[in-house]
Amino acid sequence: MSSDLVDPTKIVLPKKLRPSDGRFGSGPAKVRSEAVNRLAKKSDTFLGTSHRRDSVRAVVGKIRDGLSDFFSLPADYEILLGNGGATAFWDAAAFGLIEKKSEHAVFGEFSAKFASLVQAAPHLDDPRVENSEPGTRPAVVADGQVDTYALTHNETSTGVVMDIKRVSPGLMLVDATSAAGGLRINPEEFDVYYFSPQKAFGSEGGLWVAAFSPAGIERIASIAASSRWVPPSLDLGIALENSRLNQTYNTPSLATLFLLADTVEWMNENGGLEWTASRCDKSAAAIYGWAESHEMATPFVHEEAARSHVTATIDFDGVDATLIAAALRANGIVDTEPYRKLGRNQLRVALFPIIDPDDVVILTKAIDFIIEVLTK
Ligand SMILES: *Cc1c(COP(=O)(O)O)cnc(C)c1O
Repeated sequence: MSSDLVDPTKIVLPKKLRPSDGRFGSGPAKVRSEAVNRLAKKSDTFLGTSHRRDSVRAVVGKIRDGLSDFFSLPADYEILLGNGGATAFWDAAAFGLIEKKSEHAVFGEFSAKFASLVQAAPHLDDPRVENSEPGTRPAVVADGQVDTYALTHNETSTGVVMDIKRVSPGLMLVDATSAAGGLRINPEEFDVYYFSPQKAFGSEGGLWVAAFSPAGIERIASIAASSRWVPPSLDLGIALENSRLNQTYNTPSLATLFLLADTVEWMNENGGLEWTASRCDKSAAAIYGWAESHEMATPFVHEEAARSHVTATIDFDGVDATLIAAALRANGIVDTEPYRKLGRNQLRVALFPIIDPDDVVILTKAIDFIIEVLTK
């Protein structure tokens, strides 16, 4: 076991074991400096201007068109956006997408949060919940009573991915908050694919973005036409009207919009989703391959196909992962701590497309170096 005498914050990594960028957090995650610099250059004419005028609406238009290209959306799908991030979108979905009864695949903190808010919603039936242990994924069960299936493409708290496959009939609602941008997806398999831009898309928080199929749009319309009361800021009908005008119902963060537009453009110019997903594949191969051959490390997720290529979780045995994370942090390599409520001897490393796969390789070598010092 690791020596109690070594102060991890005193470990100094040699220069060649320092990645070009030290941000490996799962969200907020690494933001491209190029995008920030461009924002700084445009700050006098963009920041502090009306979000209902052309210069900001053009940026929203760029986001909506750019994401339609990025996800190869069919022509009748639409990109909607609003304030409040994925968490607010859960509330909006409970008001405006679930008719009566939903089914939730619950396999970690984020999927559990959505299920429990629906459970508490007085206007909805108790949801059907399919649970599985952290590190695994549940099966989605077709249920004739269910009108909405709530899936999570990447459970960020555990590093487990789900296959997104349509269950008919029913609206397929997918939390893609940390998946969108880095994991391949077939738009035919979802009706609503929603996310926040501070994870794989390397922007800031506070916004939700969602790709809607025609059935998703229809569901908004049918619930809006019913007698259900919906708070306006969570009303997806209002969000739809505003999104079609390339604006949000209330004031958005202009910096968030700008950084998102810039990164979507960068991703599309480099080859789109296939390119970003391939980068994530490379990073995943590097970190899982390293962990599998390491004496003290193992991928937390045993089933290989369930291992996330956007957020890797690695268990340690014989060395305290808290000390590794502290040593990394002291060397400018931040946010590798595991999801706090999981309570495992673990590191969690984001593999988002903005993160250079070579940096992931260097990170594994840096961890080797730190373990060597801690356990000698
Ligand atoms: C981060 C995250 C959320 C919450 O996103 P916010 O922008 O903080 O609301 C929801 N679901 C998943 C899967 C996430 O990773």
